[in-house]
Amino acid sequence: MVKLTELLDARNQHISKALSIGHGKPLHIVRGEMQYLYAADGTQYLDLVNNVCHVGHCHPKVVDAGQKQMSKLSTNTRYVFNGLTEYVSRISATLPDELCVGFLLNSGSEANELAVRLARAHTGAHDMVVIDGGYHGNTSMLVQLSPYKFMGPGGKGKAEPWVHVVPVPDTFRRNGVDYDGEVRKVIENAGKIAGFLVEPLLSCAGQIPLPEGFLSTARECTHRAGGLLIVDEVQVGFGRVGTHMWGFEDQGVTPDIVVLGKSIGNGHPMSAVFTTKEIASSLGDMEWFSSTGGNPVSCAIGNAVLDVIEEDNLMRRASELGGYFIQGLKEIQKKYPIIGDVRGRGLFIGIEFVHDRNTLEPAADEASRVVREMRDSGVLLSTDGPLHNVIKIKPPMVLTKEDIDMTLRLLNESLDRAGSVSAE
Ligand code: PMP
Repeated sequence: MVKLTELLDARNQHISKALSIGHGKPLHIVRGEMQYLYAADGTQYLDLVNNVCHVGHCHPKVVDAGQKQMSKLSTNTRYVFNGLTEYVSRISATLPDELCVGFLLNSGSEANELAVRLARAHTGAHDMVVIDGGYHGNTSMLVQLSPYKFMGPGGKGKAEPWVHVVPVPDTFRRNGVDYDGEVRKVIENAGKIAGFLVEPLLSCAGQIPLPEGFLSTARECTHRAGGLLIVDEVQVGFGRVGTHMWGFEDQGVTPDIVVLGKSIGNGHPMSAVFTTKEIASSLGDMEWFSSTGGNPVSCAIGNAVLDVIEEDNLMRRASELGGYFIQGLKEIQKKYPIIGDVRGRGLFIGIEFVHDRNTLEPAADEASRVVREMRDSGVLLSTDGPLHNVIKIKPPMVLTKEDIDMTLRLLNESLDRAGSVSAE
């Protein structure tokens, strides 16, 4: 087998430094199976951060569907074939009735690009609203629209006058703030807008569920300013929140455009944009085409992912196991004051580390130390949020109660070792 040092040498030579290695040290991963990853030396890792492999790494039904279709036909969507229409009909059936037209693409970035393009074409406006800390993709335009990037390392601050940023509605760090008022103010000051691009639960901003009513205010203000509400479900869609298939449903709001990615193909490059007939037709006479988006292999894989979610009751599982996980973490929080907040829905969870529960001084180093120790014990986690002090949990939805119990035990041990236990 190729040695890790050789791989690293080749990587240093041929891969941009802009693509860093995860988990604080190079992990030479050679195989994935459901909620686990396996290293070249045989070490098993419980993967608690990969929400792409939604129904499990290399889920046999998904692999089988892809392999079979790959040996039969892989072409483009200018032909008529059953997999495509079956797939878009099935996704459409899970969405509000009006969101009945789907575009299939290859990545979350590509889908968000199209969503913004549709919003601009439909409204005739150019300006966009986003939430602070948000990440929406790797293209030039989406980096300009992602405060996580332009305000983060290497970023040059907000340079684009057409981008308007709403503060994070963070009920832990900014408790009691009039979040709706902030949305109203930013949008009123923006003038005419093409849209508001927002995640239904904030991911890079720190694993933050939106406060109740937030999306409804966002929709109302956006519409008043002539824009469209675009919901980016790339991180949380496909039942991860447990109670619903889509994160926005929890807020009782119908978006104008919905963007799907990551888990849609369980690791196969796929994404989708769903919207109304009217908005979809705003591209006018200009042709739209993706060479590989929605190809028969992608549709077969997408259909298999939906089958597994249904057959294995993964939404109910996310709800039950997510509840169990959050409960266990809240018990740990009682013991260790360094855990300032435990939050989330279903299997989308954040643990925020603070040195002081009154000042909320972030404990980023401590969060990173725990992540490193957990990694060395065989559990993969990572930190996120603008202060890098939130441990994120968004595992393949097939993890078990035993995996959670092990994680809670190891977390307890790691926190104990740091001596961060309080007198109870
Ligand atoms: N939107 C969100 C919320 C994301 O988290 C990401 C990727 N992390 C994207 C869009 C972009 O998706 P992709 O990497 O597939 O282009």
